[in-house]
Amino acid sequence: MNQLSDRINNLATSATLAMAAKARELRAEGKDIIGLSLGEPDFNTPDFIKDAAIEAINQNYNSYTPVDGYVELKEAIITKFKRDNNLNYTLPQVVVSTGAKQSLANIAAVMLNPGDEVILPCPYWVSYSDIVKLSDGVPVEVQTSIDTDFKMTAEQLEAAITPKTKMIWYSSPCNPSGSVYSKAELRALADVLKKHPNIYIVSDEIYEHINFKGGHFSMAEFEDMFDRTITVNGVSKAFAMTGWRIGYIGAPDWIARACNKMQGQITSGANCIAQRAVITALEADPSSIKYMVDEFKERRSLILNLLSEIDGFKTNEPEGAFYVFPNISSYFGKTIKGKTINNASDFSLFLLEEALVATVTGEAFGNKDCIRISYAASQKEIIEAIKRIKTALS
Ligand code: PMP
Ligand code: GLU
Repeated sequence: MNQLSDRINNLATSATLAMAAKARELRAEGKDIIGLSLGEPDFNTPDFIKDAAIEAINQNYNSYTPVDGYVELKEAIITKFKRDNNLNYTLPQVVVSTGAKQSLANIAAVMLNPGDEVILPCPYWVSYSDIVKLSDGVPVEVQTSIDTDFKMTAEQLEAAITPKTKMIWYSSPCNPSGSVYSKAELRALADVLKKHPNIYIVSDEIYEHINFKGGHFSMAEFEDMFDRTITVNGVSKAFAMTGWRIGYIGAPDWIARACNKMQGQITSGANCIAQRAVITALEADPSSIKYMVDEFKERRSLILNLLSEIDGFKTNEPEGAFYVFPNISSYFGKTIKGKTINNASDFSLFLLEEALVATVTGEAFGNKDCIRISYAASQKEIIEAIKRIKTALS
C-alpha cells in the first residue's frame, strides 16, 4: 500500500532533472548520449571564486550562519541590486537561500493559501507549477505562442485575473524560451496589475547576465511595483555555480521576514562556505563573466543556423538564457523508424532513443508543441547533436 502523503504522490518529478538522470543512466550502459537537457553552464566556476571558498575553509567558516545569510553577503547583494538593477533594497529585505529554487519554494509557502491562483505565462520554468501546487496554490497557465515571442500580453494578463489571483510568476530572460521582456512590455503588464493592488509579482532574474541584446529591466524598478515585487536571483547560471546552491531575493520587508522564518524551520540557512564565495562573486564586475556570455552567444547562432536546416523546426530568436524552444508540432501524427510521434514528449523520447540526444519535452514547461534544447554544451557537442537529430528524422 502506498503510505506516502497525497502531497508527494501528487507532485510531478522535475522533468529537467529526470531527463538528466535518464541520460546519465544510458551513459552508464555505454550509450554515447549528448546531454542537451539540463540548464547548467558547462564552464568551471571561475578561479577567483574558488579561491574565496578555499580561503573561507581555511579561515574556519564552519558554523551556522544567520538564517537569512551573512550580513556581508546581504550587503554584497544590496550593492549588486543597486549596481546592476537600479534597485534599492535594505538588509531586512534580502534573504539568501539554498538556490533560487528554495527562494521560490519559500515564497510559495509564505504567500499562498489553499486555492490562491498564481498566473504563469507559458512556457514557464519547469518547477513553478509544482512549487505552487506544493503550497496548495493553483497554477493558472496563460498560453503564449512563438508569434508573440512567447511573451504574455497585457490583454492576456487582464483576462487571466480572477478574484482568487494572488500572484504572477515569470522569468526574464525566460527559461525555456530565452525571451526577454522589454521595459515597455513590463510597463504594460504593470499597468494591468496597478488596477489589482492585491496581486504580487515574482520576477525571476536568474539569467539576467546571459542576455545577448542588453537592456535587462526589473519589474521592481517601477516605483509603483516595488512594494509588490519579489526579485529572485542567484549565482547558478551567471557564475557557473549550480552545485554551490546559493540564490537570493529582494522583497518587501514582511515577505522577506516570512521567508526567513520559513527557512529557520527547514534548512537553518544556506551553506557557509558557498556564501563566503558568493560575496566575492557578486563584488566582481559583471565583465568578469563576459567570456561565458560571449560563448553562449556564439553557440546560440550556431544552433539556430543548424536547426534552420532541419524541416519542421520553427524557432524564435532567444535573446537570453541558453535554450532554444523549437515548435516541432509538424511531426505530430507521423511515424518515423516505426515510432509514432503524437506529442512533444514522444518527440523528445524519439530523439533520446534514435539520435542519442537528451532534450526536454515542452509539456514540462506548459507548452505542448515545443521541446527545449539547452545549448550549455560545447560547440562540438552541439554540431554532433544536431547532425544526429537531422539524420534520425530524415
Ligand atoms: N529559476 C529559473 C528560471 C531557472 O532556470 C532555475 C534553474 N536552476 C532556477 C530558478 C533555480 O536555480 P538554482 O536553484 O540553481 O539557483
Ligand atoms: N534550471 C535548470 C533547468 O531548467 C536546472 C534543472 C533544475 O533545476 O530543474 O534545466
